[in-house]
Amino acid sequence: MKNIKEYNLDELKEELEQLGEKKYRAEQIFKWIYVDKVKSFDEMTNLPLELREKLKIEYTMCNFNILKKQESADGTKKYLFDVLDGNAIETVLMQYHHGKTICVSSQIGCKMGCKFCASTGIKFVRSLTAGEIVEQILAVEQDIQDKISNIVFMGIGEPFDNYENVMKAIKIINNQKGLNIGARHISVSTSGLVPMIYKFADEELQCTLSISLHATNDEKRSEMMPINNRYKISELMEACKYYIKKTNKRISFEYALAKDNNDNLKDARELVKLLKGMLCHVNLIPINKIENGSYSKSSNENIIKFRDYLNDNGIVATIRRELGSDIDAACGQLRRKNLKQE
Ligand code: SF4
Repeated sequence: MKNIKEYNLDELKEELEQLGEKKYRAEQIFKWIYVDKVKSFDEMTNLPLELREKLKIEYTMCNFNILKKQESADGTKKYLFDVLDGNAIETVLMQYHHGKTICVSSQIGCKMGCKFCASTGIKFVRSLTAGEIVEQILAVEQDIQDKISNIVFMGIGEPFDNYENVMKAIKIINNQKGLNIGARHISVSTSGLVPMIYKFADEELQCTLSISLHATNDEKRSEMMPINNRYKISELMEACKYYIKKTNKRISFEYALAKDNNDNLKDARELVKLLKGMLCHVNLIPINKIENGSYSKSSNENIIKFRDYLNDNGIVATIRRELGSDIDAACGQLRRKNLKQE
């Protein structure tokens, strides 16, 4: 059966036409799913009974079940969802002063193998469909009975390794007649799939692009992130410059500080040299220690020194507030733990 959440509004209109129905029915269904957030066709009470029955035969609502939920003292909620084929994915809800943000997964597992990531070491299974990406948002909104204001594609998976489905999901999330989350409130993070950065730039969306940089020279970056063996820092920077020129949008560079690895002032100096003159922002992340991981968190003193050096030298840098540190906050940790228990 087809998942009704795979379709943007125009596609849903075509689907309804093929069923011999009027196009306006698609708008009604879209509203029921994304505004009223119902979980069944039976609840779509302004549709004729006959149409509801037809929909039940043709489509599934693909409602995820919550396998586990962890809640942090700071309000962060981490969900492990059953994606209905025996696999599980993680989604995190974070509460900021500017609203609620959901960190969505784009794949079941990840092929990128970043050394500091809890997803590494777990087999890659498959990419998520657009409907499965969208369902993460709906399932959280249904659980908390509240509206989400921001989406970040920073959960498990490399979004640009599932490019078409991620773009499709963004269009569904963005639709004003549905979830209505503005593109400016959607952020996509990549480990550095260079050709896709060019493609993303050409989409001219208003979304934010985040680049997981984490190191300033190829030797160190390749050690942390195998993707760097494929696309060197120089190629990555060229793609970033193209993106900025094309979109006139600021890039957010993610830099996870690991103790005695990439957190000294020499690294900060190299980072300034690399990013000087670029329309960008650096997001410093105190690294989350993962089980068996070889990296550990920098001292608070080093993190602050690093930030101050960047700011004093013309690179805007902030330290990401640690959320959910009392639960399995690093992406992949909850799923990893669950797999071990199975
Ligand atoms: S950090 Fe992101 S891209 Fe790297 S392995 Fe983890 S999920 Fe994949």
